[in-house]
Amino acid sequence: MAHVVKYHPSISLLEQYSEGTLAAELALVVAAHLDFCPHCQTLHRDIEADLGCELAMQSAPEANSDSWQQMLNNILAEPAAAVPARKTSPVTPSQSQLVVGQHSFVVPRSLQRLVSKRNKWLTLGGISTAKLPGTDENHLSLLCIETNTQVPLHTHKGLEITLVLSGEMVDEMGQYAAGDLIINTPDHTHTPKNIAGEPCLCLSVLTAPLEFKQGLTRLLNPLQRFFY
Ligand SMILES: [Zn+2]
Repeated sequence: MAHVVKYHPSISLLEQYSEGTLAAELALVVAAHLDFCPHCQTLHRDIEADLGCELAMQSAPEANSDSWQQMLNNILAEPAAAVPARKTSPVTPSQSQLVVGQHSFVVPRSLQRLVSKRNKWLTLGGISTAKLPGTDENHLSLLCIETNTQVPLHTHKGLEITLVLSGEMVDEMGQYAAGDLIINTPDHTHTPKNIAGEPCLCLSVLTAPLEFKQGLTRLLNPLQRFFY
């Protein structure tokens, strides 16, 4: 797990994630990326802190500087509140382990509950896929690509967003490993393949072209900025 994540979401995408304005499936992929990526965790915390500041500024009364300073003094004089223990939902071994045929993968924390609700695996030519529950707008699924297997050449009518969860994958643009987030825009053609010695597990979101034009316009711009 010493691998350093190379492909990240754009700042705009992280901002929308922090604001809670991303479609649910995309928010999930960003959350799962954060599980892998200390770099983006820090960015995310900074963005949230900025958002908090903006909110505080908006709601701050027109106080004169004396009373403002007094309030600050009071706050600073208070003993630090004990940090409550972080509540984590219990995770059973079956949730943290995902079995696909002969292979077993560890699933990132943010995906464990969802993955346990997947549809059954469909396998064809070394590629297995299982749909995950989600909205009708976007298709969220798991994809397991066997060693020495190539995904047939394809273009995208909408966006294709892929997060590598385990193993490695290459396409015409680069080489991707666990935590890497790959965003392909419409009309983009590529042939992802797994040439590593282990199976590759990915999380994938596909958006349909109609939804893309009508509902996800706001999303398109930051993603394009990310991509180019
Ligand atoms: Zn990152």
